Amino acid sequence: MKTETVFYEFSERTNSIPVSFIREILKVASSKDLISFAGGLPNAAFFPIKALQEISNKVIKEDGAKALQYNITEGYLPLKEWIVKWYRTKRGIDVSPDEILITSGSQQGLDLIGKIFINKGDQIFMENPGYLGAIQSFSAYQPELIPISLTSQGIDVEELNEKSTAVKSKFIYGVPNFQNPTGITYSAETRLKLARLLDDKKLLFVEDDPYGDIRFKGKVLPGLLTLNKKRTIHLGSFSKMISPGLRLGWIIANKEIINKLVLAKQASDLHTNMLSQMIVSEFLREYGIEDHLALLHKEYGKRCDLMRSLIQEFFPNTTEVSQPEGGMFMWVKLPDEYPVKDILEESIRAGILFVPGAEFCTSSKKENAMRLNFSNASEEEILLGIVKIGMAIDKCRKK
Ligand code: PMP
Repeated sequence: MKTETVFYEFSERTNSIPVSFIREILKVASSKDLISFAGGLPNAAFFPIKALQEISNKVIKEDGAKALQYNITEGYLPLKEWIVKWYRTKRGIDVSPDEILITSGSQQGLDLIGKIFINKGDQIFMENPGYLGAIQSFSAYQPELIPISLTSQGIDVEELNEKSTAVKSKFIYGVPNFQNPTGITYSAETRLKLARLLDDKKLLFVEDDPYGDIRFKGKVLPGLLTLNKKRTIHLGSFSKMISPGLRLGWIIANKEIINKLVLAKQASDLHTNMLSQMIVSEFLREYGIEDHLALLHKEYGKRCDLMRSLIQEFFPNTTEVSQPEGGMFMWVKLPDEYPVKDILEESIRAGILFVPGAEFCTSSKKENAMRLNFSNASEEEILLGIVKIGMAIDKCRKK
């Protein structure tokens, strides 16, 4: 039989979605015996498996009919009530359950925000370097992404101010706590200036905050939701707090925005997995989250310190490394005489994986940097991996 070649005519939208380098590299990571600092994986050794097993059994046994039935798009009310309480006690901010939408991870939240706000050609401000998943989500709606630099104090508010005079942007997207990919946290001053700028320029801020509760150092700083609630769309997630496989996140925003997001979500998946919502809600009620977070802070903090001190010991002394106070990533900048693309190839040969910083850059200028994840590896792997990357750096130095 003759085989026919079929050409599928995908939409412009589909063709504008960039391939995720990380998803591709994770396929390599799972197929080989590598030490990976590439993915953004929480450490599975700390998932509360026993407690979740017990709670899952209980939920299915006692409330199975509800957990397995269709449900409302807005989300499971007891879970929303827990979120209300959490924001009141941890961040000193009052939100009401109808300002919350439960999503299938915050990644879905990003897609829904793109869906309800972005027309083709709209201009969106993005941190540069920025979170690849947000670039991917928004790109499907064909905006023009306008990069705003990150400094060690967070988003460059001066640059944002200048660019927002020339550009009428729909929103700014940023990760103020322990940013992905750099690990940088916006300073208190940056936050205040940004909150003011939002009013001056009548801009919205999409505050993506999946790492906010994974702070192992320093003091909690008020988020943009606290500083300028009416101009902030805030995204939270249980992925780093409990487990990403649960696929549970939330959006907090003005009711008018939530109503539109609910419509967009209905068209996408009707509602978030009810069994997951009920299990997490019951887990939080029965166990709380404080002890679990304390464990993550201790373990991730230890790994972060270890990785940083090894980098200082084994990388060239011209290396710049960010100082994360939480989250899961650090950013390592190298002078141009050490090309990171070559270092990655050499590292892969030595069995170590990371993501080159250039992948996260939306501007034409690509940083000679690497993003290293410190949450997922063991301390032994961090030791071995950083020493080997250090050797790869030496080998790749341009003469
Ligand atoms: N935002 C940022 C900044 C992230 O790093 C991630 C996870 N890599 C997400 C959103 C998505 O998280 P989830 O969908 O699991 O909540």
